[in-house]
Amino acid sequence: MKSLFCCPLCGAPLEREPARLFCPNRHSFDRSAAGYVHLLPANRKHSKDPGDDKAMVAARAAFLEKGYYTPLRNSLCKVILQYTENLSAPVILDSGCGEGWYTAGLFQALSQAGRTPQIAGVDLSRAALRRAAKRVPRAEFAAASVYHLPIPDNSVDVLVNIFSPLAADEFARVLRPGGLFCYAVPSARHLWEMKEVLYPTPYENPVKREDYSGFVWRDIKEIRYTVDLENTSDIMALFGMTPYAWKTPKEGVARLEALNRLRCQIGFDLHLYERA
Ligand SMILES: [Zn+2]
Repeated sequence: MKSLFCCPLCGAPLEREPARLFCPNRHSFDRSAAGYVHLLPANRKHSKDPGDDKAMVAARAAFLEKGYYTPLRNSLCKVILQYTENLSAPVILDSGCGEGWYTAGLFQALSQAGRTPQIAGVDLSRAALRRAAKRVPRAEFAAASVYHLPIPDNSVDVLVNIFSPLAADEFARVLRPGGLFCYAVPSARHLWEMKEVLYPTPYENPVKREDYSGFVWRDIKEIRYTVDLENTSDIMALFGMTPYAWKTPKEGVARLEALNRLRCQIGFDLHLYERA
């Protein structure tokens, strides 16, 4: 059976076997017991266990399971269902898939609509990939860099990037002409009330629509709602998913940790680009 991935060493197509993937040039890649495959060349692996660690992944998975970000996932599914209306087996790549929460939503939505989605996800975190492969056994997952995707040129119908690193040139390479790039970014007032706790003077997120070479911007879906975080662990899980977790002075973090509820604005801009 053909894989959606290609060989990270020579670029040739990969064949799938239960325990491994291999190319015609005899490069072979074992599937882990958890079900994902390691396609990150050793020289591009900067630490022993790159990407989000186990505790971070577990906190994020628990947070997402509670449904706080379901409106974003629903909006993403709706856009992609519409876009792939005439494709019986759309090829979808979740770049920076994390623990596969969005990947799973897409798989379910497309399957329920009678399609046969061909879904691949890549991430650096082995802890996240273990969960993703378990969550969506019929998708393919690989440990790989989004800057060197082990994906053939022009082979992807829809590429999804939800809060993970942007590699626009690489995305343009793998998407077929006319393919759809779904890019979710925080809106100006996303998590505003959390920032009011963290910082003496919170600033709005900069929002500026970027143009990327090889893409034409088509549309934006604005997703705005309020969540009620009802305990400290949900508050801190959400905080841990933000860039503020790295740069907030400890007094700010202490103020947040002292809360046991927080009502907070959520805002996402889902930008839709078409591969030219
Ligand atoms: Zn090869």
